[in-house]
Amino acid sequence: MSTHNFGIAIHGGAGTILKSEMTPEKENNYKAALEKALQAGYDCLENGKTAMEAVEAAIIELENSPLFNAGRGAVFNAKGQHEMDASIMDGKTLHAGAVAAVRNLKNPISLATKVLHHSDHILLMGEGAAEFAKQFEIEFESDEYFFDQYRYDQWQKIKGTDNFQLDHSKKEKKYLGTVGAVALDKDGNLAAGTSTGGMTNKKFGRIGDSALIGLGTYANNKTCAISCTGSGEYLMRAVTAYDVSSRMEYKGLNLKDAVNESIMDRLTEIGGDGGLVAMDKDGNIEMPFNCEGMYRASKNAQQTVVEIYR
Ligand code: ASP
Repeated sequence: MSTHNFGIAIHGGAGTILKSEMTPEKENNYKAALEKALQAGYDCLENGKTAMEAVEAAIIELENSPLFNAGRGAVFNAKGQHEMDASIMDGKTLHAGAVAAVRNLKNPISLATKVLHHSDHILLMGEGAAEFAKQFEIEFESDEYFFDQYRYDQWQKIKGTDNFQLDHSKKEKKYLGTVGAVALDKDGNLAAGTSTGGMTNKKFGRIGDSALIGLGTYANNKTCAISCTGSGEYLMRAVTAYDVSSRMEYKGLNLKDAVNESIMDRLTEIGGDGGLVAMDKDGNIEMPFNCEGMYRASKNAQQTVVEIYR
């Protein structure tokens, strides 16, 4: 039996600390956190686990780090709460699970996975999602767990206004980021997942691309697995994750050309900024972005990559 060219790619958000503000210490912290998550996912694949399991394992690590805007590090919404979105998709079955505007969940990606496996629905939100979570061993955390002084200060600056702060906004000097992962396992199955706190001061109840299948997350064994990050409202309008897959399926493009058209052309043309991590069924990996940086990493049998800027 042939073993596929298994591997994993992850991101910690397309909005990065500006290069001019990055210190060697911060850079090491980010890279170490990325490496830890990458390894958690890669270990799964090496041990014969599924791409779905690898994606969840990598995202859990990223959600547990306060450095990234997901799980523990989720930003504040306009009410000073942490409302989180997450989704996951299995490229083999085309089944998907997602949660939106959930609060106090330690690992939203795990609840999204439960929605996939244990409900007939794709997307549960808010209180309904929390009620659904109670039948499983899903961990909840207090509001203090999600408190971070930097994010609180960031929110205070725009609180009470109609503005919201994208992690990538060029106006602010320091950025945070959504997290995501894509993987190809030894059996040749693809999976993709994404998790986020959204944007600082976003409206109560605002749901972004990260919760939505085909927009922030998509996987199909026929084509590719995609996890997006960036200005959510634009990624939604560009239907970015499915757009990449469609370019491969209908236009016959390879992964590299498909992601470039989706990010560098289509998303850029409508004024969106961001990027994505992508893998195709042959194990090729692409991690394009149209902004200054994107926390990203990938690993397969041939190489390990951990990068922030161009
Ligand atoms: N796309 C995410 C959202 O709009 C934000 C991000 O990727 O940083 O919720």
